Amino acid sequence: MLEELRIGDNGTYIYDKVAVAIDRLKCFEALALEYSPEGYYLCDSGGKDSSVIKQLAIMADVKHGVHHNHTTLDHPETVYFVRREKARYEDLGIPYTIHYPKMSFWRLMRKKRMPPMRLARYCCAELKEHGGKDRVCITGVRWAESTRRKTNRGIVEIASTKAVPQLMITNDNEESRKEFETCTAKGKRVVNPIIDWTDDEVWEFIERYLIPVNPLYDFGFKRVGCVGCPMNTHAAQELDALPKYKQAFIRTMQRMINDRIADGGTPFWKNGEEYYEYWVSGKAMPKDDDQIGMDFSEVTP
Ligand code: SF4
Repeated sequence: MLEELRIGDNGTYIYDKVAVAIDRLKCFEALALEYSPEGYYLCDSGGKDSSVIKQLAIMADVKHGVHHNHTTLDHPETVYFVRREKARYEDLGIPYTIHYPKMSFWRLMRKKRMPPMRLARYCCAELKEHGGKDRVCITGVRWAESTRRKTNRGIVEIASTKAVPQLMITNDNEESRKEFETCTAKGKRVVNPIIDWTDDEVWEFIERYLIPVNPLYDFGFKRVGCVGCPMNTHAAQELDALPKYKQAFIRTMQRMINDRIADGGTPFWKNGEEYYEYWVSGKAMPKDDDQIGMDFSEVTP
């Protein structure tokens, strides 16, 4: 629930998560403006959590621009949704930038000589997580998404270079704010206003404010990632429903085999099809079943 009854020093009170999230955004706006006259750098992945932070930034009335990193492997529904969101934001007078990568996913896969796998997701860092350097970013990161995030992500963070340890602050008190604002480490400063929200609270907010969300959720998707992402348990079915992407994987894998032969190596697979079948066979895929219920027949190819 977005509103909870809590017990404080002076008795019970209502803890309003929306008001707290708005306060977190207002709190660091001055700092965001110090780093850039454009204010916050709001990261939009095209997923539901991004839809929430975009609405919260409008409600908080903080200066910001929205940024989306196109991966070249995005689901077509995500590409169309992001374009609609860009048009909607520009109508509201809020800048919205779609960033295109220097190297496509297909070229990157060939360069890395392997397709992305659950334990080798090199593409996220190269295609999805760039941008916002020396800015104050807003992200929709939440602890509920993984147990690892509970231990290594905070309400505010400084993602610094290796030489300076990352500063992570998990409460809203004055001392922590001061620490965040005065830290001289270079790098991204990140505010995660909904870090303590549950999935149900995210949907409660979306329904309360009738916010547009990626239509993939209507098809049963629980996460919005790239087509064939190794984190998706049903990547093989998704690729069967989107044959152009499947063919692109097979073509690229065939090129990777050719590259190996050209380098004097012995390929492990006879051809791109065999390589592809191995990759989607589940050996490199997650074991959890977090995408149950998707209806691929309704997804636009
Ligand atoms: S979402 Fe999946 S496929 Fe897309 S960039 Fe990240 S790891 Fe790679």
